[in-house]
Amino acid sequence: MTKTVLLGLLLIITVGCKKQMPKTDIVPQKEEVAQEPTTPEATEIWEPKPKVVSIDSNKVPSDAIVLFNGKNLDEWISAKDSTPANWTINKDGSMTVNDKTGDIQTKRNFGDVQLHIEWRSPVPVKESGQHRANSGVYLQNRYEIQVLDNNDNDTYVNGQVGSLYKQAIPLAKASVPSGEWNAYDVIFHAPEFDAQGLKTKSATITVLHNGVLIQDHFELLGTTEYIGWPKNTAHGPAPIKLQDHGDFSGVSYRNIWVREL
Ligand code: MG
Repeated sequence: MTKTVLLGLLLIITVGCKKQMPKTDIVPQKEEVAQEPTTPEATEIWEPKPKVVSIDSNKVPSDAIVLFNGKNLDEWISAKDSTPANWTINKDGSMTVNDKTGDIQTKRNFGDVQLHIEWRSPVPVKESGQHRANSGVYLQNRYEIQVLDNNDNDTYVNGQVGSLYKQAIPLAKASVPSGEWNAYDVIFHAPEFDAQGLKTKSATITVLHNGVLIQDHFELLGTTEYIGWPKNTAHGPAPIKLQDHGDFSGVSYRNIWVREL
């Protein structure tokens, strides 16, 4: 190859490369740069205003749907056969799992929600491991946040109190003593599926247990199965469900409300 040919090739390559190089798109031109604000008002936004939510004496937000206020189970049905829920209502404004009558679920279906729910394990304590005050709060009928009396009661950590059952170990164990009231505050974003039924976006869940962050925007892998791997069958909005574990539970619930997001 002669020197001229080599030089020619070099020129072609150089020109070709130059043609493919972006101009100065990445660096904004001087006239495109927004002027640096010089007053505090220039960076203030006044509209639209966020909606106003007031909080009542029971700390329930005004835009919440109250699912249980201590008086009746009107918002709930048996998960087994859709008959009226028949868990026990107590004089203190709570309800207790009616052992072996089955799970109860809301009549309403929900997608993305903020959920507040309080629960209490019974005293004196009975049994141990997964059999001590086992219940659960299911989002969309499929995704269980474990309820369990774990005080001086070890079990597998991905099934302990505050776990996303068999999927996510809680970041902390923040239980109050047995017999006292716990609170779960949950932010749940539902999974999304395409027209073919394939999951395009995982559900995410954040849980505070008595104000302590125990699940931090966890991406659910699918349903929380007792036996087997998580499943991802397409679904839409679905009920919130409370678990009757099928043995002695004694778990009570109160102050349940939800805000649709
Ligand atoms: Mg459970």
